[in-house]
Amino acid sequence: MKLTRRQIIITAAIITVLALLGGIMALIGRNTPVLFNGQRAFRDVNYQVSLGPRIPGNTAHAQTIEYIYQTLIKYGWELEIQEIEVMGHPIKNIIARRGSGDEWIILGAHYDTRRFADRDPNPQLQYDPVPGANDGASGVAVLLELGRVLPKDLDKEIWLVFFDAEDQGEIPTWDWILGSKGFAASLTDLPAAVVIVDMVGDADLQIYREKNSNSDLTDDIWKTARKSGFGKYFIDEEKYSILDDHIPFIRLGIPSVDIIDFDYPYWHTTADTADKTSADSLSAVGITLYNWLTR
Ligand SMILES: [Zn+2]
Repeated sequence: MKLTRRQIIITAAIITVLALLGGIMALIGRNTPVLFNGQRAFRDVNYQVSLGPRIPGNTAHAQTIEYIYQTLIKYGWELEIQEIEVMGHPIKNIIARRGSGDEWIILGAHYDTRRFADRDPNPQLQYDPVPGANDGASGVAVLLELGRVLPKDLDKEIWLVFFDAEDQGEIPTWDWILGSKGFAASLTDLPAAVVIVDMVGDADLQIYREKNSNSDLTDDIWKTARKSGFGKYFIDEEKYSILDDHIPFIRLGIPSVDIIDFDYPYWHTTADTADKTSADSLSAVGITLYNWLTR
């Protein structure tokens, strides 16, 4: 086949355009981060609730450990189940580690749910367990989705820690925050910051500054939320003082913050179900933390 001059010019032009397009596509591919998907996180809330209440020692609790473990292994994290004993109870904290660098940050959430719905308005339901869609599953779902989307090459060491037995206080032989207490006591080195997410899925999301939290770290995260377009959810006012998984780290002098929406009418009731939570709320918290970590 002999090409005419005109055919050669056209062929060369087509090849040039294709090469340019390929280059552009490659650039877009490299620079587009995997986005935090609130719907995907919401599915993880539903999945956990579908297992049933995750009470320390029960089957759903064991299935949740397995789910968190397998999910994060798949995303390329290094997993460890920390088995300790606190107040005579076996405690299993799940630790996922990735990355290296000068900065070491721990993100934490509790995965257990409360054995008794002692705040339920119906006294007959107060010995039933809490389904824990917001109080338990939401924090886990945000961490799992961050585990999926966080860049592998962050210049930081990140630990995602899923605490056991946060929510069994005021029950004979138990107390609040047993998992995080045991975990904090096991630290031989101190991270730069600890960020706890708890009850972050409320469809009517209102996160006030928590009074025991480190105020500089709170400023930093609330500022990131505003810049990310979520200022209406992260309200720049203090409202509650909460005993949560950040407390053992505050006691060690580590800058720590509790991101919690405590204006949740279904707290410790049998009505803490997935329909009270939303993908948008999970996104607001997840994207804020993503932006804060990758800033
Ligand atoms: Zn609770």
